[in-house]
Amino acid sequence: MKKLTALLLAGFMALSLAACGGTTSSGSSSESTEPESSSTASGETASAETASYEVTTVEPGVLTMSTNAAFPPYEMTTDDDSFEGIDVDMATEIAHRLGLELDIRNVDFDYALQMVQIGTSDIAMAGITITEDRLTNMDFSNTYANGVQVIIVPEDSDIAGPEDLAGKLIGVQTGTTGEMFCIDEFGSDAVNSNDNGMTAVSKLLNGQVDAVVIDNAPAQEFVASNPGLKILDTAYADEDYAIAVQKGNTQLLDAINSILADMEADGTTQAIIDKYINAG
Ligand code: GLN
Repeated sequence: MKKLTALLLAGFMALSLAACGGTTSSGSSSESTEPESSSTASGETASAETASYEVTTVEPGVLTMSTNAAFPPYEMTTDDDSFEGIDVDMATEIAHRLGLELDIRNVDFDYALQMVQIGTSDIAMAGITITEDRLTNMDFSNTYANGVQVIIVPEDSDIAGPEDLAGKLIGVQTGTTGEMFCIDEFGSDAVNSNDNGMTAVSKLLNGQVDAVVIDNAPAQEFVASNPGLKILDTAYADEDYAIAVQKGNTQLLDAINSILADMEADGTTQAIIDKYINAG
């Protein structure tokens, strides 16, 4: 890994793409080249802001984001196999303001978190809730969105609230806060863990589980596209979503927090959220 200014990286990348071949051997001296040129690879609006951030990334010129793109409307795949969603648009904008290209790695949720810990991604964004546990293994940015855990049941279910989940089989997604809560409260025998939320919902439709506990935003999407299901009124837990980085990577964390504050102030964050979640 090389320490370069983001601006230098962006400009350098255009020169080195053909020759670099994924190695980390080029462009090592940030001191010798002041970021005086305003031409970057990432567009005409990137001048003043990109020049002020100096970040080290896994791959020069690139912001690598690990995610699990099965969590609408935060991250999902499109018909042509690209990615979209709130996190995808947020990360695209953050990368742009850093003068970097965004590269998305779509993996299982728990591995998306591991990738920042082992240093194979720069950030993880996947509707990730800040928890005490996770804070011991990774650092989090300031929060950019909120979530709550909800319970999805069939329309004719006798489950009316969390208290009715005792003795039932609950579908969850592996590695999520929903899974942790349910195991804590009802024991692991009561919990059926799945690679993603939609698999858990499919099991609910097939009668293989009695309820699914998952974040509210994807729950709304899954219920809207699968008739016969409903979301119970009782919210299960209030959570803050944030961007995960490798523990101790304050350089990247500070840059991200500063960009998040700018995006909040200039309305970008709200515009992105409104694009995917109906305002009001
Ligand atoms: N917010 C939940 C968590 O962080 C679920 C995230 C997800 O399933 N992508 O565990």
